[in-house]
Amino acid sequence: MKLMADYKNIRDMIDESNSILITSHYSGDGDAVGSQLAMFNYLKQLGKNVEIYDEGEISFQYKFLPGFSNIKDISEATGENKFDLAIVLDSSNLDRIGKVKELLDSQTKIINIDHHPDDDHFGDLNLVVQSASSTAEILTQMFFDIGFEIDKDTATVLYAAILTDTGRFRYESTGRRTMELAGLLIERGAAPRKICDSIYFANSPGMTRLTGKVLNNAEFIADGKVCMLEITNQLLKEYDCNLEDFVGMAAYTLTTKDAVVGALFKELPGGKTEVSLRSKNILNVSNVAHLYGGGGHCNAAGFVVDMQLKDIRLKVMDNLKGLVNASV
Ligand code: AMP
Ligand code: MN
Ligand code: MN
Repeated sequence: MKLMADYKNIRDMIDESNSILITSHYSGDGDAVGSQLAMFNYLKQLGKNVEIYDEGEISFQYKFLPGFSNIKDISEATGENKFDLAIVLDSSNLDRIGKVKELLDSQTKIINIDHHPDDDHFGDLNLVVQSASSTAEILTQMFFDIGFEIDKDTATVLYAAILTDTGRFRYESTGRRTMELAGLLIERGAAPRKICDSIYFANSPGMTRLTGKVLNNAEFIADGKVCMLEITNQLLKEYDCNLEDFVGMAAYTLTTKDAVVGALFKELPGGKTEVSLRSKNILNVSNVAHLYGGGGHCNAAGFVVDMQLKDIRLKVMDNLKGLVNASV
């Protein structure tokens, strides 16, 4: 079986390495953070020298996860960091890890574990399972298959990763296997209510108020089929909030019955804009993200552009109108 062969090759590559880097895409989400912490625990248990380096701010929502302090920002890396092996999790290509790429040299072998359909197989070994809901689901399956004893902390970070990447077990990607593995993680000590509340019910008052403001400004076009939201710098300042804490806001674009496509625009420093796209059914927003150098899944995709929010908003509005009109 191919999976078993991949597991064996992964283990061999780990055994041959003294110093291992774990990383993921910039501004890690729940899957990125949880998968990295789980892999860290596995490698530590094997007695390996292992470090996690990431680029970009991470939402406060994941900072309660056990072992979070093991994640270091790339700015803390010294020139002395040398790695025989890099395990890259939840990244469809190497550019997604940003400056962490600078820690790799020609000697560094790469294991790529991912579930994005547009993963470009950049690793020396690629464990890419498109049907998996999350990278954490791939890891959970692997840990059970190889008999790694999952403890409470590892169960917690894996459960949090699956929970967040399935939109709380809601996306199409949520299969029977996803639920079964989540159940097994609960058996190993993951606490569903506590984990869910720590992620989704822990806003500051400012965040709750800012959410209200953003929703109040929602724009509906194409007979309500497209919903657009935006978070500007000015709003963040006014409500004393951090942009990275609003990873969940994109989901609000589809809370209206008729809305089938949504876009959330976030103003970044330096005149850039981050765009999160969401859709229902077979409408593929990843095609739109690819137009601007981004990517993602059929129902959730994103990109960052060097353009002012209002300019990219107009362009994306046309793209999304085109997408829904083509589908009627
Ligand atoms: P987000 O809107 O940031 O929650 O991202 C939704 C999905 O799109 C995730 O699967 C991301 O991995 C993917 N994605 C977001 N931004 C990018 C990007 N710049 N390049 C490639 N994929 C992206
Ligand atoms: Mn991710
Ligand atoms: Mn993921």
